[in-house]
Parts: sequence; C-alpha cells; structure tokens
Amino acid sequence: MYDAIIVGAGPVGSYIAFSLARAGYKVAVFEAKETVGSKVCCTGIISQECYAWFCPEDAPILRKVSSAKFFGPPGRSLTLEKDTIQAYIIDRATIDKTLARKAQEAGVDYFLQSKVMSVKPEKECCRVEANCPRQSQEFQAKAVVVACGFGSILPERLGMGKINEFISGAQTEVNTESREVEVYFDQELAPGGFAWMVPTSSGKGLVGLMSRHNAHSFLKSLLSRLIAEGKISSKEFEIKQKAIPLRTLPRTYRDRVLVVGEAAGQVKPTTGGGIYFGLLCAELAVNTLHEAFLIGDLSSRQLCHYQRKWQAKIGFDLCIGYRARVIYDTISNTQIERVFDIARSDKIYEQLLNGEDFSFDFHGKLLSRVLRQPKLLMNLVTPKSLLSLSGISSLRQGVSGEAPEADIVYDK
Ligand SMILES: Cc1cc2nc3c(=O)[nH]c(=O)nc-3n(C[C@H](O)[C@H](O)[C@H](O)COP(=O)(O)OP(=O)(O)OC[C@H]3O[C@@H](n4cnc5c(N)ncnc54)[C@H](O)[C@@H]3O)c2cc1C
Repeated sequence: MYDAIIVGAGPVGSYIAFSLARAGYKVAVFEAKETVGSKVCCTGIISQECYAWFCPEDAPILRKVSSAKFFGPPGRSLTLEKDTIQAYIIDRATIDKTLARKAQEAGVDYFLQSKVMSVKPEKECCRVEANCPRQSQEFQAKAVVVACGFGSILPERLGMGKINEFISGAQTEVNTESREVEVYFDQELAPGGFAWMVPTSSGKGLVGLMSRHNAHSFLKSLLSRLIAEGKISSKEFEIKQKAIPLRTLPRTYRDRVLVVGEAAGQVKPTTGGGIYFGLLCAELAVNTLHEAFLIGDLSSRQLCHYQRKWQAKIGFDLCIGYRARVIYDTISNTQIERVFDIARSDKIYEQLLNGEDFSFDFHGKLLSRVLRQPKLLMNLVTPKSLLSLSGISSLRQGVSGEAPEADIVYDK
C-alpha cells in the first residue's frame, strides 16, 4: 500500500512525487513511456521564477532571454526588449529526467512502461490498474494524483468531466545561426495561434507553431519559408505534435483523487505554456494532500480545498487569457497589421512592457490593460469579440484580488 500513486512522470508528476517523498510519504510514479523525458514536445521557455522555485539547481539552462522580435503579417515587426532577463530556455527532457532522479533519490518507486488503465477510489484505498511490461497489475494507494498530461481518458472515467476546447501544437528541431527569439502572428501562417523560432544551444533551435487545426502542415509551410529566408538550414525534420487544452476540467478532485497540471487544463491559454502553472498547482496539491493525511481525511470534502486554492491562484489569468484568445481568433490579418502599427507609433508597447503589472507568467492584468487602450480596442472589436470583451469588463474588479469563482466558466 502506497500513501500516494502518481500517474505520469512529466514535470508535474515528478515534482509532486519528490515533494511528498521528502515529507516522508511512500510514493510510486507510473509512466506509460519507456523512459522519462522521451518524446517530449515542448520548447522549454520558462520564467526565472519558475526555474528558481521548481527546477533542481543542477538543471541546465540553454539560453537566457531578455528580448524577442515579433513579426506580424509580412512587412510588420517589433522588437521588445527589457534590460533584465525575462525567461530561460531549458532542455525539457533533461528537466524531466532531473526531477525524476531527485524523486528517486528521495525514495520514490518509478514504474516505467506502465500505463495506468484505471483508478478506482474505494472506502479504504484507491485501486490502480496498470499495464506493466509483463502483465497487468493492481496496486493500492491511500491517494492518487492524476498528472498524465492532456488527452487521457482517466479524468473523464473518474467523473471529473472533459476538456473540449484545445489547440494543436507542433514543433521540430532545426539548425540555425539565429540568436534571437522570433514570434510570428499571422492568421494565414498559424490560424488562431502563433509560431516561434527559439535558438537553444549553439547552432540549434526549435521552430514551433500553435494553431486551431493542422499545426503539422502549417509548420511545414513555415519551415519552407524559413529555409527560403536563410534562417534555418536543416532539410529533414522530425515534427512532434500535441494538443494543448484551452479550458480547465470542471472538477479536479474527488474522494482520494486529485488531477493536476495539463491533465486539469492548468495551462496559459495565451501561450500554451503549462510548466509554471502546472508546478504552482502541484505545490497546492501537495499541501492539500499533506493536510488531508495529517487529519486522516482524504474525502472530496477535504480535497476540494485544492480546487479552491488553484482557482484563487491562477483562475483570473486563465479566464482573461481565454477571452483574449477568443478575441485573437476572430481578428483578421489587416487588424493584426493595425495593432502592430498602433503599438509602434504610440509606443504603447513600451508603456505596457515597462508597467508594474508586466509579468512573464501572469497575463491577466496586462491583458486587461491592453484592452483598455482605446485605439487598440476599437481595432479589435468584432461582433464575436464583443461578447468576450463584455466578460472582461465585468471581471475588472477582480484584477487586484482573487479570481471571482463564479466567472470561471467551464465546459459543461
Ligand atoms: C509545441 C509545444 C510547445 C510547448 N512549449 C512550452 C514552453 O515553452 N513552456 C511551457 O511552460 N510549456 C510549454 N508547452 C506545454 C508543456 O509542455 C505542458 O504544459 C507540460 O508538459 C505539462 O506537464 P505535465 O507534467 O502536466 O504533463 P506532461 O508533460 O504531458 O506529462 C504527463 C506524463 O504522463 C504520462 N502518461 C499519460 N497517460 C498515462 C497513463 N495512463 N499512465 C501512465 N503515464 C501516463 C505521459 O507519457 C507523460 O510522460 C508546450 C506544449 C507544446 C505542445
């Protein structure tokens, strides 16, 4: 009998496993893949705060970023620069491996190539059935944390609901001499999303794209364009593709079970970044479980505190971010061009960038400030976006406080 079984050895799963084991609990992690960190599809851009709080000290940083060049539809560009480092580019596979190693050193058992097929909460324990390398086996734990990323059937089978809104992401490694992060906003290049080129270690980089659909084929067109522009030189690409949730699960707890990280939809809807929010929520999950173990109550009545805590922490930013994404989805390339022109001519971007509420991770306050710029607002208004904008104005009183829970609308 384990105290806790964690489903998934991504950053969120291994971080929870490590934290619980360090606090003295008997923990096991089940991972479907053969090795931790294999086949990850992630650019690895995280804030300094994220790195400092959650990444092991020996986790390598590939690059430090203080500026980025933004491209609009052809002909428009804008360089945003701060005097201080804004983000780190880390090697995601190495981070996953390092976190798993730390968890193992703290006493966690790792079961690799062991896909969890079912989780059954019962009165005295949770039964976990896993397809281990030789046979299907059943394990027992007092509590289970589902940290299996997006796309698994487990949360729905557990009665937590389903995330129906998502965006498609694709990425590949390239050879490039470029040293600057480039971001592309163009509805023809990446409909409803954006694309990026991020230099990593010397001579290498990652080119990726998020779009409403067909990220893989849009990425291929972008790669051809970057080759034609002489920005990348590779000829053969191994493209990885993954869906990114845009909403959260209706419910992230029940008796003896919590759902955390991308599996719960704890991802920035603006950028698709999920490492920091996932790890923040992982910390809250660990605290909630620790309190529940101490008083010997792992019922949903006790575990519901987890959902309340994470909603208070990131709910507002998720809500505003989602609405900003809906607005972006409705605007045309001509409107994007105008946004670039307005931002450049009035130096609005400098005011926004240097404002006190600028944060690499929390976009809610910045976005509500962007949408209060009259010129930008006039340019973004379409019938569909008006609906989202009305939602944002009703949320403004929540800007400096906790997320108004009733306003976080989930898929039903
Ligand atoms: C193209 C792209 C680029 C991205 N870039 C960034 C970025 O730069 N910065 C950022 O913050 N985020 C980025 N993200 C998002 C980020 O990768 C995810 O939010 C993050 O990986 C979520 O971590 P997690 O631990 O919740 O889930 P995951 O990393 O998905 O880990 C879940 C693990 O669970 C395992 N698993 C699944 N089902 C089972 C099962 N039934 N049994 C056992 N194991 C199971 C999986 O194999 C996996 O190893 C990007 C995403 C994409 C698609």
